[in-house]
Amino acid sequence: MQTTAGRAWWPDRSIELNPKLRECAPEELWRTLKHELAHLIAYERCGRRHTDPHGPEWATACTELGIPGEHPFHTLPFKRRRMKRNHVYICSNCLTTIHRVQPLQRTVACYDCCRKFNGGAYHERFRLVKKKPEA
Ligand SMILES: [Zn+2]
Ligand SMILES: [Zn+2]
Repeated sequence: MQTTAGRAWWPDRSIELNPKLRECAPEELWRTLKHELAHLIAYERCGRRHTDPHGPEWATACTELGIPGEHPFHTLPFKRRRMKRNHVYICSNCLTTIHRVQPLQRTVACYDCCRKFNGGAYHERFRLVKKKPEA
């Protein structure tokens, strides 16, 4: 769910939408919903024979749902914004997180913790650890 707008689950017949879609235009949300719905229709029609998720069955269903020429890959306005600050570091002591556009070039410790517990000097214990980007 990192950058995808939505996902269709089969055979659950359920659709998952990225909560970030709320920040987008309503048309965007509807388009995504129809895109995912087209997946379910294609699966419903072809079942196990259906191999290519964005194959002709899916494209046909898209046209029927009113989004002909739909692109297989969702591009959303928030995608670029989210990519900007994707380096997240966390202090394992106080759990403060910092966000950086560029990765940290050197080892950095949590400023607050060093000041509070170590007289302002660097301590390994308060080193900021890189966190995986949020999904
Ligand atoms: Zn799709
Ligand atoms: Zn800290």
